[in-house]
Amino acid sequence: MTDHYETLGVARDASIDEIKKAYRKLARKLHPDVNPAPEAAEQFKQVTLAYEVLSDETKRASYDRGDQGGQGFSGFGDIFDAFFGGGGGRGHRGPKSRVQPGDDALVRLDLTLRDVVFGVTKTIEVDTAGVCDTCHGAGTAAGSDPVTCSYCKGAGFVQQQVRSLLGNVLTEMECPMCHGYGTTIPQPCPDCDGQGRVRQHDTIEVPVPAGIDNGVRLHLAGRGEVGPGGGPRGDLYLEVHVETDETFTRDGDDLVASLEVSMADAVLGAEATIETFDGPLQVSVKPGVQAGSVITLGGHGVTRLRRNTRGDLRLNVSVQTPTNLNAEQRRLIEQLAKLRHDDAPHLATVSKSGFQRFRDRFMGRH
Ligand SMILES: [Zn+2]
Ligand SMILES: [Zn+2]
Repeated sequence: MTDHYETLGVARDASIDEIKKAYRKLARKLHPDVNPAPEAAEQFKQVTLAYEVLSDETKRASYDRGDQGGQGFSGFGDIFDAFFGGGGGRGHRGPKSRVQPGDDALVRLDLTLRDVVFGVTKTIEVDTAGVCDTCHGAGTAAGSDPVTCSYCKGAGFVQQQVRSLLGNVLTEMECPMCHGYGTTIPQPCPDCDGQGRVRQHDTIEVPVPAGIDNGVRLHLAGRGEVGPGGGPRGDLYLEVHVETDETFTRDGDDLVASLEVSMADAVLGAEATIETFDGPLQVSVKPGVQAGSVITLGGHGVTRLRRNTRGDLRLNVSVQTPTNLNAEQRRLIEQLAKLRHDDAPHLATVSKSGFQRFRDRFMGRH
């Protein structure tokens, strides 16, 4: 009975790392690939057995107790794992199905601001994959069937010997003949080359709800690509992209625009008609309107998502200062200025909010 510690040349209290290191060193020296001597092969077996026992806590404990059980050489698998950190995925797989679910697709959906304000039904064209009408997804030519793969006998994978430091190791790989399907198609459908699906041009009607936000993705379940072998369609996602409008911008549920008012209209007031998404609307500019003030047209904004109410249309007043005065106009303005005695340009005081004014009055301050 050989002593496993002696065989590996390590102390009885050697750590697992020391045992591993010692084994690797010996294995490199004694491995049949590098050392053809017959006694080396025998030594290699002993060394490997010693490692098998001492690297396993349970087996080592029972060996230390003088127990003869549990010392069996369990084959290359464990050694392989010890060296390469677990050989996961070595379990058998069956052949894979030719029918696979289809991919999801993402398409950009261009909308105008008007589409967003009222909602719209868009007709979109997508390039996608559909079931092959000729073979209905089977991939086989009429009157033919898939046959069991002769290379893997239908398993979908084959075992392969890989030479390693530790000798020949069996690994499993996808069958190169049938690509893992376990069957081959000797007579592929001529219309889809055996794929079971073909490129297809789809026209889809998409109801777009009013109030939808830029960048949102609409999800159309089951409108994506048909999978290989005629597998179920994936989903279609439409990413909303709202074009910039020339006049209106969106602010939440409101629409915002700039209302340009001449200096005279700002002073005297005016009535005007503006073109909106709701058609022509009347706007009253009150006499003395200030630049930067807001005229609100209630209910002419964006339809709120999944509701029937609408936001407002806000018009930011922009007073247009005349720049190209002729001599007479200039004289009239100068005359007006003389009559007005307006203050020279000066810094404004920060205006108090309504609440501050109320509080000041309540507290007796002014
Ligand atoms: Zn086909
Ligand atoms: Zn095969």
